[in-house]
Amino acid sequence: KELVFSGVQPTGNLHLGNYLGAIKRFVAMQAQFECLYCVVDLHAITVWQDPAELTRQIREVTAAFLAAGIDPARSVVFNQSQVPQHAELAWIFNCVARLGWLNRMTQFKEKAGKDRENASVGLYDYPVLMAADILAYRATHVPVGEDQKQHLELTRDIAQKFNNDFAGAIQEQGHGEAFFPITEPLIGGPAARVMSLRDGTKKMSKSDPSDYSRINLTDDSDGIATKVRKAKTDAEPLPSETAGLEKRPEADNLVGIFAALNDVSREDVLREYGGAQFSAFKGALVDLAVAKLGPIGAEMKRLVADPGHIDAVLADGAARAEAIAAPNIAAVKDIVGFVRRR
Ligand code: ATP
Ligand code: MG
Repeated sequence: KELVFSGVQPTGNLHLGNYLGAIKRFVAMQAQFECLYCVVDLHAITVWQDPAELTRQIREVTAAFLAAGIDPARSVVFNQSQVPQHAELAWIFNCVARLGWLNRMTQFKEKAGKDRENASVGLYDYPVLMAADILAYRATHVPVGEDQKQHLELTRDIAQKFNNDFAGAIQEQGHGEAFFPITEPLIGGPAARVMSLRDGTKKMSKSDPSDYSRINLTDDSDGIATKVRKAKTDAEPLPSETAGLEKRPEADNLVGIFAALNDVSREDVLREYGGAQFSAFKGALVDLAVAKLGPIGAEMKRLVADPGHIDAVLADGAARAEAIAAPNIAAVKDIVGFVRRR
C-alpha cells in the first residue's frame, strides 16, 4: 500500500525553500496518495529551543500546512511528540543503525560546526529518529528537499538491515519477505534546493542570521519586494536556454524559484525571459511571489490567532497517526522478541 510521510521542523522562519521544496509538494500529493504530514517537534529540540517559542512555532508550522492547502480531513496532520511510537521505534533503530553510518552524515557536521563535542546526542542521532518517523507508518514515499537525500538513504539502509537481521521472525510471523518497505525519496522539480538570496552556493535556511537570505512565508509584499530586489545576481542578462546556467548559481536560483512558483520548467521561464535584464525579471518575480505567497501568509496569520482550532486539528491527527503506527510497532516488538502485555 502506498503511503506518503513527511515532516517540517518547528524551528522558526518557514521560508520559500520549505514551501517549494516540501509543503507545496505535500499539497499536490494528496490527490494521489494517503498522506501523513508531521510537525517534527522532537527533531526541533536537537538544538536549544525556548519553550514558549517552540509552542508558538509548532502552531505556526501547522498553520502553514493548512494555509498552503493541506486538508486535515483528508491527510493526517499532527505533531510528532503526541505519538509515542516515533521515539519508541527510534530506540530500536538505534540498535540497528551503525555508528559508521551516522559518522558519514554531512548535516550533523554542518549543524554541529566546530564545537562538535558540545552538540547534543540528539543532533547526532537525528537521522535515526527520522527513519523511525517514516517507518513507523511503513511509508513508501517521502517528498523532501535535496538536502534530505542522505538521510533518506540511511532510512533505506535501516529498513534493509532490520529486514535482514530479523528475516526469520518476519517470515514466521506472517509478514512475508520484508517487514519495512524500502522507502522512495521524492526529490525533484525546479526548487528541490532553493539557495540563499545572498549566496547562491548556500541553501536557503531557517537558521541563516541574515533575514535577507530568505523569503519567509509570513513576509508582507514590501518585505518580499525588498528581498528580491536586493538578491545577489551577476551582471549578464538571462540566457535563453538552461545550458550554462549551472555556472551562474544566483541566476539559476531565481529562475528555479520563478519556475516552481508558476508550476513551469526552467526552460519555460527562459523562453519568456531570455535576454531580459535582472531588473525586469526581478520585477516579474516580485509580482509572482506576492501573488502566490501573500494569501498563504495572510491565512497563516488568521489561523494562528485561533490556537484552539490548531490544537484540535493536531489532536485529531495524532489519534489517526497513532492508529496506524501502534499496530506496526506492536509487530516490531514481536519480531524483535520482546514479551508484550496482552
Ligand atoms: P533547519 O535549518 O532548522 O534544518 P530547514 O530550513 O532545513 O531548517 P527543515 O524543517 O529541516 O527546514 O526541512 C523541512 C523540509 O524543507 C525538508 O523536506 C527539507 O528538505 C526542505 N527544505 C529545507 N530547506 C530547503 C531549501 N533550501 N530548498 C528546498 N527544500 C528545502
Ligand atoms: Mg533542515
